[in-house]
Formats: sequence, structure tokens, C-alpha cells
Amino acid sequence: MSTPVVLTSTLVCPHCRHAATETMPTDACLWFYNCLGCRRQLRPLPGDCCVFCSYGDTACPPVQVDGKGCCG
Ligand SMILES: [Zn+2]
Repeated sequence: MSTPVVLTSTLVCPHCRHAATETMPTDACLWFYNCLGCRRQLRPLPGDCCVFCSYGDTACPPVQVDGKGCCG
């Protein structure tokens, strides 16, 4: 029994609080994301593997599956 992997995450920009729901790639990590609100480029926080783990409400698929980051 495994928990279904969630493939969408709502990213909230730390600069302008703009929220956008994005589909996460299952085979790659997303290092850069351009905010649709303020156009600034978001990058993962130290220790996080991708922008979804830092700013999203759902961890990225590799973390959901095995608890390890996509870049580990
Ligand atoms: Zn923003």
C-alpha cells in the first residue's frame, strides 16, 4: 500500500505572496521558477532539493516516494 503521489503543488512566492498551482515533473527537479506575480526567480532554500520543497504546499514526487530529494 503506497500513498498516491501528488503531482501538483501550489507555490507561494516569498517576495510577493503570489500563489500559483504548478504540475511537478516526476523525473527531474525544478531548481528555478519565475514567479508569475513579481517575475523574480525563486531558487530552493539551503537543504531543499527543489522549489516545490521550499515554496510549495506539497513535497516533490521523489520525496513523496522515498523520502529523499530528487538531487540526493
Ligand atoms: Zn513573487
